[in-house]
Amino acid sequence: MRQLVIASNNPGKLREIGQILAPLGFQVRPQADFGVPECPEPHVTFVENCIAKARHAAAHTGLPALADDSGICVHALGGAPGVHSARYAGEPRSDARNNAKLVQALQGVADRRAHYYCVMVYLRHPEDPEPLIAEGRWYGEIIDTPRGSGGFGYDPHFLVPELGRTGAELSAQEKNAISHRGQALRALVEKLQALG
Ligand code: IMP
Repeated sequence: MRQLVIASNNPGKLREIGQILAPLGFQVRPQADFGVPECPEPHVTFVENCIAKARHAAAHTGLPALADDSGICVHALGGAPGVHSARYAGEPRSDARNNAKLVQALQGVADRRAHYYCVMVYLRHPEDPEPLIAEGRWYGEIIDTPRGSGGFGYDPHFLVPELGRTGAELSAQEKNAISHRGQALRALVEKLQALG
């Protein structure tokens, strides 16, 4: 088994990524196992922050590293909240206040288009000049009244028009099959397999 450090401490993500990468011969370890300190995320694009996180984890552990970054981009808001999705309404991070702020920002706005975005970056070592980069986008619309109790974050306000359901009304399995994160992870696996 090849060891791989994940630049995340989210237990749900670690489990999901670990299960998918185990058959490819990777033993996935959270960066917390190595005492990796918090990485600054100063950039305005997801991919730059994601590369920074992967490089930081690889540099601190000496292992290949995988990082992910995600958020929601609203068309009428020029892509906001974007990289600020987790803390859109400030500290401490709160899904309820983020959602209230988003609904408020779209008061009287007819264009409700939004998409979730996820990027994953794999680095063989901190100076790897050829990061593997995989992306996913999940398109929907922001609705004012929340629906559903699954998922997290903006999901109760994220309507998937083809399904007539919000992200919070999907099972975890249904969401993984179509979500930005599911798409990015599957695309990354293909790239890792191609690498051999
Ligand atoms: P992170 O990539 O885990 O830091 O996620 C950034 C933020 O984007 C989260 O805190 C949520 O606010 C939002 N977000 C990312 N993916 C999702 C999702 O699948 N559902 C709802 N919110 C999400």
